[in-house]
Amino acid sequence: MAWVKLFRKPGNGLGKTYQPGSMLSLALTKGLLNEPGQNSCFLNSAVQVLWQLDIFRRSLRQLSTHFCLGDACIFCALKSIFSQFQQSRERALPSDTLRHALAETFKDEQRFQLGLMDDAAECFEHILERIHLHLVSDSAAEPCTSRSCITHQRFAMTLYEQFVCRSCGASSDPLPFTELVHYVSTTALCQQVERVLERMDRLRSDMFGELLQAANTIGDLRNCPSNCGQSIKIRRVLMNCPEIVTIGFVWDAEQSDLTEDVIRALGSHLNLSGLFYRVTDENAKRRDLHLVGMICYSSRHYLAFAYHSKSSKWVFFDDATVKEVGVQNRVLFRFLFFSTN
Ligand SMILES: [Zn+2]
Ligand SMILES: [Zn+2]
Ligand SMILES: [Zn+2]
Repeated sequence: MAWVKLFRKPGNGLGKTYQPGSMLSLALTKGLLNEPGQNSCFLNSAVQVLWQLDIFRRSLRQLSTHFCLGDACIFCALKSIFSQFQQSRERALPSDTLRHALAETFKDEQRFQLGLMDDAAECFEHILERIHLHLVSDSAAEPCTSRSCITHQRFAMTLYEQFVCRSCGASSDPLPFTELVHYVSTTALCQQVERVLERMDRLRSDMFGELLQAANTIGDLRNCPSNCGQSIKIRRVLMNCPEIVTIGFVWDAEQSDLTEDVIRALGSHLNLSGLFYRVTDENAKRRDLHLVGMICYSSRHYLAFAYHSKSSKWVFFDDATVKEVGVQNRVLFRFLFFSTN
C-alpha cells in the first residue's frame, strides 16, 4: 500500500500559500500527542473521529451556552481542542485538557484516570453522554428531545423491541429505549456471513445492514408469550432518523482470527431498513448512510480512520501521526461510524 505523506514541507510549493483553514483543507487534520506514559490513544482516536464528523463538528461549533464544570468540563475541553484544530499551526496538539476533564469527571468511578489505558468505545459514549448533561437541564427526561442536545439530535437511535409470535400472533409489550451505539458481536456477524455464502457466491454490497441485523438478533430467542410452544425472535424497530449511526463491534478476544472475515463483511453503505426489523420514519427509510470513520484496535493500541469529506480522502490517525491512506487491514474494527456527511 502506498503511504502518501500528508504534510509537505514549506518550500514544496505550499509554504507561502499555506493558511490553516484555507485552500489546503487537509491541513485541518492534525495529530494528537500521546507522550510516553500518557496512554491517551483511546481518547485521541475518539476525538479525531468526532472532529471529522462534519455534522457533529459544525453543531458543536454553534453551541456555547452550557452548564459549565470549570476544570472538569468535558464540553469546554472538547471545544478547546476543536478550536485548536482550526487555529493552531502545530501538526500535533496535546489532548491533555480533555484527558484531565475526563479523569476528574470519572474520579469516583476510577475510570479514565491519568496514565491508564482505557476503552475507546466507552470513552466515546461517555463524552457524548456528558455533552448531553452539559446541555440539557432536565436530564432525567427519557428519551431526550432537547433541540440543542447534539448528542441525541445527531447520534441517538430511538427504538423499541418486541417479541411477536408468527405462529399464534401473541406479542410482548414493546420496550422503548435509546442507544448511541449499536453493538454487534463479530462472531455472530461471521456466522451470518457464512450462512449467506452457503446460498450465494458472494456478499452483495447492499447487504451489510441485513447482516448486522441478523447477527444482532440471532441469540435473542424467547418462548412465545402465550406459550404456544414457538421460539420467537426479537424485533427491533427504529422510530427516528439518526444522522450519525455508530456500530460497535464486540470481539470475543483481543487477538481474533476473525479479522479477515469481518473485513470481508464490512460494507461502506448502511441502509437503516436493513439494520432494523422495521423503520417507521419516512426519512430514515430513504436515508443513505456512508462509512465515514472507524476506530480500530491493534496490539493494545487504538487508531482511527476518518473520511475527510473536503478532499474525499481517507485519513489515518495514530496519535501524533496523520497520514492519507487506503484503509489498512489487520486491525480490529471496534467502531464504525456512518453518516450522511
Ligand atoms: Zn464548560
Ligand atoms: Zn440529550
Ligand atoms: Zn405463539
